[in-house]
Amino acid sequence: MTALSFSPPETGSIQPELRAEVRAFLHRTLGPDYGPGLKARSWNGHDPAFSRALGKRGWLGMTWPAEYGGHDRSALERYVVVEELLAHGAPVAAHWIADRQSAPLILRYGTEAQRREVLPRIAAGECYFCIGMSEAGSGSDLAAAKTRARPVAGGFRVTGAKLWTTYAHAAHYMILFCRTGAAEDRHGGASQLLVDMATPGITVSPVLDIAGEHHFNEVTLDDVFIPEDALIGELGQGWEQVMSELAFERSGPDRFLSTIALLTELIRALEPDPDAAQRRAIGRLTAHLMVLRRMSRSVAGMLARGENPMLQATVVKDLGTSFEQEIPEIARSLIAAEAEPGAGDAFAQVLARTIMTAPSVSLRGGTREILRGIIARGLGLR
Ligand SMILES: Cc1cc2nc3c(=O)[nH]c(=O)nc-3n(C[C@H](O)[C@H](O)[C@H](O)COP(=O)(O)OP(=O)(O)OC[C@H]3O[C@@H](n4cnc5c(N)ncnc54)[C@H](O)[C@@H]3O)c2cc1C
Repeated sequence: MTALSFSPPETGSIQPELRAEVRAFLHRTLGPDYGPGLKARSWNGHDPAFSRALGKRGWLGMTWPAEYGGHDRSALERYVVVEELLAHGAPVAAHWIADRQSAPLILRYGTEAQRREVLPRIAAGECYFCIGMSEAGSGSDLAAAKTRARPVAGGFRVTGAKLWTTYAHAAHYMILFCRTGAAEDRHGGASQLLVDMATPGITVSPVLDIAGEHHFNEVTLDDVFIPEDALIGELGQGWEQVMSELAFERSGPDRFLSTIALLTELIRALEPDPDAAQRRAIGRLTAHLMVLRRMSRSVAGMLARGENPMLQATVVKDLGTSFEQEIPEIARSLIAAEAEPGAGDAFAQVLARTIMTAPSVSLRGGTREILRGIIARGLGLR
């Protein structure tokens, strides 16, 4: 069996000052009325003005070189900012995908022209991306994607449909995973294209979630012309590239902090006089959170060193989403409250929202079963 190792997470003296700066910025920018109901929305909260304010403050594109609008800061500093944003439940949806995974992908594989075109705008909080991977019938089995880019003079003609595309309706670009080779060449025949969402022939249709909210979409591409300079990396290298993109998607603190607003409200509700069982439950959840933070920081360090911590990132996501789904279960077992979306009581309000969103956390970015298959393969067990 292959050993799985996490290098010790970096620590640094900058953390307390930077944390304090981010907290002060959040209190100032979001104000005192940014209550538990909004905090529970967090990375579903789409607020371009907030994203631009973050960009202005230098907290987007933090680790990229200054020549692409970045700020040459460390992965640990970025980690601190991201963690504080999520712990506060800040509305990060507008810039999230671009800053987390699209920009690092373009920085690594994109052409110089692509980098100069989009990275400074992403760092300014003005340019938003969506992920064009899943299709009806190929979510887990990404290699079965059917959207095809047919080479033509000067570019490609693309036809297909992407599903579950988060915030496609507010995105400027999509990174499209598509077939460019023979259908039977599952991995070798795929590529990634930088697609301008304003291109004629692209239709974005809303798909509502269980709560009736609109963040998902279906994106259809009907014989869309995409110029050849939109190719990211090498033709036919899309599979390797998309795997490295997923390492950025799977390892961050967003993989264990999406239901944190409920843990905060739970502690607040129990605070006056917790009994022994309640103290034990909170202690256990907090201990898990501490371990997840260390593991996630370790992956951030490996990414910063240019390593490919795909296996470690997968472990963090699997453990992190289990933790996120445990919080509403434990909250319900500790406090007998009716979960009500419009309740005046903050705990009941946040509980209601979290119950509706928690099931999805182990689906997005790869389901639990798929992640465990990857972990087993990485450990040499299959
Ligand atoms: C909140 C949210 C946001 C999302 N945003 C995006 C986005 O922006 N862009 C995008 O491209 N996609 C997005 N997705 C889609 C997500 O990546 C897919 O839902 C996910 O990969 C699962 O694919 P599927 O829904 O087609 O389920 P399926 O692949 O049909 O799986 C159904 C069930 O079968 C199980 N299963 C499938 N294959 C296997 C196997 N080989 N072994 C064991 N079990 C298996 C799965 O674990 C799952 O339980 C999002 C999903 C969610 C929930």
